[in-house]
Amino acid sequence: MANIPHILLIYTGGTIGMTKDYETGALKAFDFDKLLKYIPELKHLNCTIESESFKNPIDSSNMNPEYWVDITEIIERRYEDFDGFVVLHGSDTMSYTASAVSFMFENLSKPVIFTGSQLPIGDLRTDAKENMITSIEIASAQKNGKPIVSEVCLYFEYKLYRANRTTKINAEHFEAFSSPNYPPLAESGVHLKFNEQVLLKSRRSKSIRIRKRLENNIALLKLFPGITENVVKSILEIEGLKGVVLETYGSGNAPTDKWFIDLLSTALKKGVKIVDVTQCAGGSVILGQYETSVKLQKIGLISGKDITTEAALVKLMYLLGEEIPRRKFKSIFEKPLRGEMT
Ligand code: ASP
Repeated sequence: MANIPHILLIYTGGTIGMTKDYETGALKAFDFDKLLKYIPELKHLNCTIESESFKNPIDSSNMNPEYWVDITEIIERRYEDFDGFVVLHGSDTMSYTASAVSFMFENLSKPVIFTGSQLPIGDLRTDAKENMITSIEIASAQKNGKPIVSEVCLYFEYKLYRANRTTKINAEHFEAFSSPNYPPLAESGVHLKFNEQVLLKSRRSKSIRIRKRLENNIALLKLFPGITENVVKSILEIEGLKGVVLETYGSGNAPTDKWFIDLLSTALKKGVKIVDVTQCAGGSVILGQYETSVKLQKIGLISGKDITTEAALVKLMYLLGEEIPRRKFKSIFEKPLRGEMT
C-alpha cells in the first residue's frame, strides 16, 4: 500500500482564523486550535495532518521579510518529515509572501500551497473550508509516489496558481486573486484537474537551498501623468537606496522629459537597480517597442517583462541580497528563476 501523505499546515494569521473583537467590532486573529475545531472534515482526508502556528498570528498587512524568513524556516526545519506544506495566510499580502517564498527556496521538490479566505472559518457562508480542504488535497496529490506539484502555489476559489504570478484583485469577491500572465496550474470542480504541462519540473535530483538574505532598501515608484521632478528625485536620491521597481505605462513606456531620463540615469550610474514593470493588469514590458521606452532601454533599465509588481519587488530583494556582481545583475534579473516571467 502506498504511504499516506503527511502534510504540515502552517498558520500565520489572516481572516481565515479571525473573530470579531467584542469591543471594537473589528476582525482580529485568534488561536489556531480553535480554527481546526471548525473543520472536522479534515479527519476524513486521505492524509495525516500536523500543524504549526505563529505564536502571535497576524493580519497580513503586518507581514514583512522577517516573517517570510520565519515561514521558510518552519518549512526548512520540517522539510524531510512532510510530503507537502499548506500555509494559511491573510489574502491582503499573500501574493507578496508567496512570491518571496518561491524565490527563497531553490530546487524545491515538494508542494508549498498558500491559501486563506475572504470570510472567517466560523462564518456560515465561509469560503475558508473549500480553500483549505482543497489546498491540503493538492499538497497531498501524488503520481507514482511523487508529488504532482513541486513549487510554491496559491490556491483560492477553485483555482491553483503559480504564486509568483498572482495578484490580489478584489477585496470582497471570493475570487480574490488572478494570474494575468500565466494559466491556472489546476482547477477544482467535481474533479481536481492538474494542468500538468504548465507545472514547474521537479528539481528532486538537486538539493534544496534556502536563501534568507533579503535587501529591503528598495522603493516602488508608480508613474502618473503630472508626476513632478521633485517626487521622482526624492525617491531616487534616498540615502542607501539599492533598487527601484518603476511602474510604467503600457508596454514599459514613460515620459521622455530630459529631467526624468537624467534622474534615472544618475541613479543607475550610482548602482541603483531599476526594474521596469507595467501598470497594466496583464501583458508585458517590451523596451524599445515605442519611442517612449527607447531611452529607458539605452540607459540600462532592467526589463521586468510580464512579471507582477509583487514578484518584481521580492525578486529585487532576493537578488540584491545575493550580492550579484554589477555587470551580471540585469541579465540574471531578466531570466525566469522560478517561472515568474515568460
Ligand atoms: N486583512 C486580512 C489579511 O490579509 C484579509 C484576509 O485575510 O483576507 O490578513
